[in-house]
Amino acid sequence: VSRYARLALADGAVRWVALEGEEAHALDRAPWLGGTRTGAVVEGRPLAPAEPSKILCVGRNYRAHAAELGNPLPAEPLLFLKPPSALLEPDGVLELPPAETSERVEHEVELALIVGRRLRRASLDEAAAGIFGLTIGCDVTARDLQKRDGQWTRAKGFDGFCPLGPVVATGCNASAIELSAHVNGERRQHGSTAAMVFSPAELLAYASAIMTLEPGDVVLTGTPEGVGPLRDGDAVVLEASGIGVLRFSVKATR
Ligand code: ZN
Repeated sequence: VSRYARLALADGAVRWVALEGEEAHALDRAPWLGGTRTGAVVEGRPLAPAEPSKILCVGRNYRAHAAELGNPLPAEPLLFLKPPSALLEPDGVLELPPAETSERVEHEVELALIVGRRLRRASLDEAAAGIFGLTIGCDVTARDLQKRDGQWTRAKGFDGFCPLGPVVATGCNASAIELSAHVNGERRQHGSTAAMVFSPAELLAYASAIMTLEPGDVVLTGTPEGVGPLRDGDAVVLEASGIGVLRFSVKATR
């Protein structure tokens, strides 16, 4: 297993790094573009570990989550997009929309795939080989707007509605990751990616028949059951076995 992160350095530069114990070794470009070590060991503030042209998401990819919202399981992957402007860095602050816009914002912990090579009309084998690594994502959702709008762009697309990170891990089995979400120390979500309806490779192959997936794109793979509300002052901790822990906090718009 290798771990990579993207850091903002004190001088304002942004660097991809390979993590080794406590040390962050600077790379000359993103790891999925073949980044090699520059020789520098650096320190910095973690950023979302991706530079996606798009954030592709799948809804209702776990049976128990579809059921908890009263939805049937889709016969095909149910795809939607988040704008890259939704990304939130590790340890970031999620600012809720004003209460008059949405009164029900929820967390959805998800396994996030980082695409490592261009995929267009990919076979299952090509799609599996096109997954560079894994990280943790939160598909923050304004549930009231999702129901009201019918399509999900507004409900899923606010700035900060995609916390991502803290690292990209390679060499993990994407179908054997334990996911959990804690809010203020209380466990809300817990599940295994083994319970996905459509596997990561199936999702990428299916999506690549519609849109070309580019290196650095992010694919959120759906959430297990236990979604719940986020409120002003909440501290959220998302964990994925073998990958790491992603934290963020929540504040109201004032
Ligand atoms: Zn989701």
